[in-house]
Amino acid sequence: MEKTIDESAQGSALTLQEKKTNGRKLYIESYGCQMNFSDSEIVASILSNEGFNTTQELKEADLVLVNTCSIREKAELTVRKRLEKFNAIKKDRPHMKVGVLGCMAERLKHKFLEEEKIVDMVVGPDAYKDLPNLIQEIDEGRNAVNVILSKDETYGDVAPVRLNTNGVTAFVSITRGCDNMCTFCVVPFTRGRERSRDPQSIIDEVNDLWKKGFKEITLLGQNVDSYLWYGGGLKKDYDKASEMEKAMAVDFSQLLEKVALTQPRMRIRFSTSNPQDMTLDVIHTMAKYENICNYIHLPVQSGSNRILKEMNRLHTREEYFELIDNIRTIIPDCAISQDMITGFPTETEKDHQDTLSLMEYVKYDYGFMFAYSERPGTLAERKLDDDIPEAIKKRRLAEIIELQRQHCQERTEQHLNKVQEVLIEGTSKKSDEHWMGRNSQNTVAVFPKENYKVGDFVMVRMNSCTSATLKGEAVGYSKNSL
Ligand code: SF4
Repeated sequence: MEKTIDESAQGSALTLQEKKTNGRKLYIESYGCQMNFSDSEIVASILSNEGFNTTQELKEADLVLVNTCSIREKAELTVRKRLEKFNAIKKDRPHMKVGVLGCMAERLKHKFLEEEKIVDMVVGPDAYKDLPNLIQEIDEGRNAVNVILSKDETYGDVAPVRLNTNGVTAFVSITRGCDNMCTFCVVPFTRGRERSRDPQSIIDEVNDLWKKGFKEITLLGQNVDSYLWYGGGLKKDYDKASEMEKAMAVDFSQLLEKVALTQPRMRIRFSTSNPQDMTLDVIHTMAKYENICNYIHLPVQSGSNRILKEMNRLHTREEYFELIDNIRTIIPDCAISQDMITGFPTETEKDHQDTLSLMEYVKYDYGFMFAYSERPGTLAERKLDDDIPEAIKKRRLAEIIELQRQHCQERTEQHLNKVQEVLIEGTSKKSDEHWMGRNSQNTVAVFPKENYKVGDFVMVRMNSCTSATLKGEAVGYSKNSL
């Protein structure tokens, strides 16, 4: 849709060839969801082929890229504040270029250049392969914008450059975009229609990660349960596929099984699920393979059927309970986490009580809870007034957070006096003498280091806990480490 050149900005001295070869420094900062962090690794890969080396030092950067989030107003304010900080650095490094990526870039498009003068380049989530051209334009002294949303881009042919990695866990993106039009959400507008990645390229990436010593992967997508590969193209065009393509199609539970069988000792997690798209097949596949972790992130957003309807969430609380019951029946020790929005337009005290009672029913292991933040361009913004006073939003949010804290404590205590497999990810934040890792249920555990090392699967006896962290002692290696 949009790609233009602006003649105003000034270029710098180095020739293009010189810039290509002499290892210019790239600094990437990522905000928001795991998808954005995974995308930044795609960007680092595309630019490493252009001679860029990533640096963690902002002050030595030639190109600064900010991968932005637009999910709430606060996320965008954080990015604007950060861009202000770059002004001071730009005074010392006038040749330094600044680009914005991700959902806020896609939402604002050209307006970003008008609103934030330090920005030279605006690139949407589907246009990262155009970065070499866009950088050439800003090198020639012009601003550059590419916010075209794609029908088939999955970056399946780009090998991510792992950034800030612990060398043990990694993200593997499997779908892009979302076709669910939840009325509060900007994602369908900033990341486009759903398309799934070729399963073979996913398997290749998983094998490559295992060879590099990684021990756990998280399969990523805005809505992983909606994964459907039938040769490429949009999910919504599946009905037009040939009988042959349909016969060869791979859905999410089949992909999970393929990945589980490919590397039987590699731990597998996935995120994010949508209750309206999750099938029993997925749950049965999780139960069938020990290396698929017993944890599901299952956003619900509200416990009120009336509000779920206003949010265009295509399930009722009763259907959600049925899914929870199925998960608990098929995988009794499965951990479940939630996303919750409080103070959605027209939410009554009764609706709020419905949310609290749903949480009582599920008793989530943990959750991500936020007050409603009106997002420009969404259906809710266009159709509904943001009519819940801030004070009420805050009070309801505090009640939900407090209830979740109690449930976190209950759920974490359920692991006490058990011996569980933990994958060591690194040193505990609180003590250099202790390792931190997570059990299959995604609960953090810390224990004395002894002779174990990062990447080991260790059996840990859980002796005590806080509301979110288990404390224990290692009792030996897990068979997955032998
Ligand atoms: S499922 Fe709904 S909330 Fe999640 S990314 Fe899609 S539209 Fe947004």
